[in-house]
Amino acid sequence: MAKLNPFSIAQQQLDEAAEKLGLDAATHELLRWPMKEYHVLLPVRMDNGTTKVFKGYRVQYNAARGPTKGGLRWHPEETIDTVRALAAWMTWKTAVVDIPLGGGKGGVTCNPKELSDSEKERLARTYIRAVGKELGVHRDVPAPDVYTTPQIMAWMMDEYEAMAGESHPGMITGKPLEIGGSQGRGDATARGGVYCVREAGKILNVDVAKATYAIQGFGNAGQFAATLHPEILGGGTLIAASDSRGGVINKNGMDPQALVRHKLETGGVKDFPGSEPITNEALLELQCDVLYPSALEGVITSKNAPNIKAKISCELANGPTTPEADKILHEKGVYVIPDFLANAGGVTVSYFEQVQNTYNYYWTLDDVYQQLDRKMTDAFHAVHEMSKKIKAHNRLCAYMVSVQRVADACKIRGWV
Ligand code: NAD
Repeated sequence: MAKLNPFSIAQQQLDEAAEKLGLDAATHELLRWPMKEYHVLLPVRMDNGTTKVFKGYRVQYNAARGPTKGGLRWHPEETIDTVRALAAWMTWKTAVVDIPLGGGKGGVTCNPKELSDSEKERLARTYIRAVGKELGVHRDVPAPDVYTTPQIMAWMMDEYEAMAGESHPGMITGKPLEIGGSQGRGDATARGGVYCVREAGKILNVDVAKATYAIQGFGNAGQFAATLHPEILGGGTLIAASDSRGGVINKNGMDPQALVRHKLETGGVKDFPGSEPITNEALLELQCDVLYPSALEGVITSKNAPNIKAKISCELANGPTTPEADKILHEKGVYVIPDFLANAGGVTVSYFEQVQNTYNYYWTLDDVYQQLDRKMTDAFHAVHEMSKKIKAHNRLCAYMVSVQRVADACKIRGWV
């Protein structure tokens, strides 16, 4: 099978919403493409004295609602089209939670698992030297994504400030607390997703406190979802989890904290005491109440969608479901909380981080949780109201809410 191109998928999703909204041709065309993108070569000195040349990208998709914002992914399969797709989704994400930012994304094609810490630091600094002039709190603000960390954000901020000769904590988010990070940023993506599951449970009459749940992709977002699901919802049974090395299942339930510790100690979820092995493919098709796809894009397709048995799919990953699969899930009655709504908690707290950096005054953890809950709950219900109106699958409804907001901003600015 040909590999799915995530940017073609993002464009198809937009096309469907544009048609339904009756967008004029110019606005539709403007929203189909990134407004700016940068391709850079990054020569980095390796520990053994040789130099390796990496490819880096930064895409500023649309800035009509404010400076662009979006994470940096370091992945061996990173391509310009993955970055474009993620930047488009960031545009819809900042719009659905109604924060005054546009959408962007960046990345480097590399395998971070093969890089030492000092090589990562040199790569981070080289990236900022290459694209730093295009970044800034009033231009474009990066953050962590797959395989990038608060430490990498810290090196990047340091390099940027060295170039500028002054302090710029708001130029990047997801920083360590010691240098201007926000309370609550670490688990914000998963927390926002679990708030959405709570609201979906009310609508669907599913008792989420008694729900069984499974996590595909036990990384940052997935691990926090595992522990926050019972903490926020007052209960729930984690029956399966997986990562790139394999998966584990125990229908009687697994202790999420113990599984996180096991992953930390052994590098994976595999061989967790009391569990049986399960493949990533089988995990997605498990009988469970809530599925959290939390790894990468394109995992729920027209091939396996007919076999998905979860009641709710809370997409913490970006782009896990293809457009054909969306329709199948909708017909089957699987309630999908689409990616750019479900995982918007991360960018929302990143935005709070930028706000705190700008006024140089920092909020408590409770302030962050309260504001995040309000933003996520409002966004969830805006999408739900749209679904009552147009009776379409949730992703299309979320697109209709966001695309309309971005299109309005383009129009008011006089662009179209
Ligand atoms: P991460 O690198 O911490 O975790 C990714 C996890 O997925 C790892 O455990 C990896 O082993 C696993 N994985 C990779 N390939 C897999 C496969 N084929 N099957 C099962 N597991 C696999 O990354 P993350 O930050 O948790 O991001 C995960 C997803 O969530 C991405 O799509 C990302 O764009 C999205 N996301 C993350 C944030 C955030 O704040 N971290 C915010 C919004 C969206």
